[in-house]
Amino acid sequence: MTPWPADYRQAWTLATSVERSGVGLHSGLPCRVRLGPSELPGYRVGWLDAPQLPLRRLEPSQVADTRLCTALQLGERRLATVEHLLAALAGTGVSQAEIWVEGEEIPLLDGSALPWVEAIAEAGLAALGERLEPALPAEPITLRQGLGFVTAFPAEELRLAAAVEFPQAAIGRQLFSISLTPPRFVAEIAPARTFGFRDQVEQLRAAGLIRGGALDNALVCDGERWLNPPLRFADEPVRHKLLDLLGDLALVGLPRAQVFAYRGSHGLHTALATAIANATPFPAESTASNPPPRPVLSA
Ligand SMILES: [Zn+2]
Repeated sequence: MTPWPADYRQAWTLATSVERSGVGLHSGLPCRVRLGPSELPGYRVGWLDAPQLPLRRLEPSQVADTRLCTALQLGERRLATVEHLLAALAGTGVSQAEIWVEGEEIPLLDGSALPWVEAIAEAGLAALGERLEPALPAEPITLRQGLGFVTAFPAEELRLAAAVEFPQAAIGRQLFSISLTPPRFVAEIAPARTFGFRDQVEQLRAAGLIRGGALDNALVCDGERWLNPPLRFADEPVRHKLLDLLGDLALVGLPRAQVFAYRGSHGLHTALATAIANATPFPAESTASNPPPRPVLSA
């Protein structure tokens, strides 16, 4: 596969465009995404069926719903389940890209970030020079929701940790921490799939959610066992939590921080992204433009 960047010091975009389609986790409806190069920092969403609408840079203030996935309100339109795609872009080192969408959801694919990583590898990466990242304020940021909390300290490198604690014996207590680099993201985080619980499935379907959920795109836990083994990692659930954390933080870029999420949720993760954005606003666009993409890697 692509020789991924060794770290997150440089800005990268895609060398060419690449497309994927599938069903949305919640709507169960078909949706399509075309990823392409961008000369501007951040991730910008446009609409394949309405190309005249302006591209919008994604940011935490657009978060509209965090029940089971992260959904954004982009002008008149809603875009759900952005987190696995954003984790794949941020995790592989792609700091800027255009995301053209048809539908109201990002396709779930296999429930992990791996199919997006493969799409990015197919497009190849183009180097853009030094990266502009949000720097955290000197004071740590800590946020709490129920029993869960998330905390972020300024650090020289991005270090992420997540802990989960479930009464279901198949998951129980799990802790995972990592000094993140693109190759480590691809090997250790991207393949971890989303997971759910058998007794919640009917409840969620009745609420109009997870209509696209199936045994081939989500791990389903039934107390002491999994309905659809084998797992890709013994601790796949906590690795997926870390994937979700990274995808939600990508709304503000990759902060130079050490971040720990205990019983994290999309609500907590996106609240942290908002707090980081409020503490360190994006650099002005005029000072943040990069030279045109120069392809140096290919799939
Ligand atoms: Zn997820």
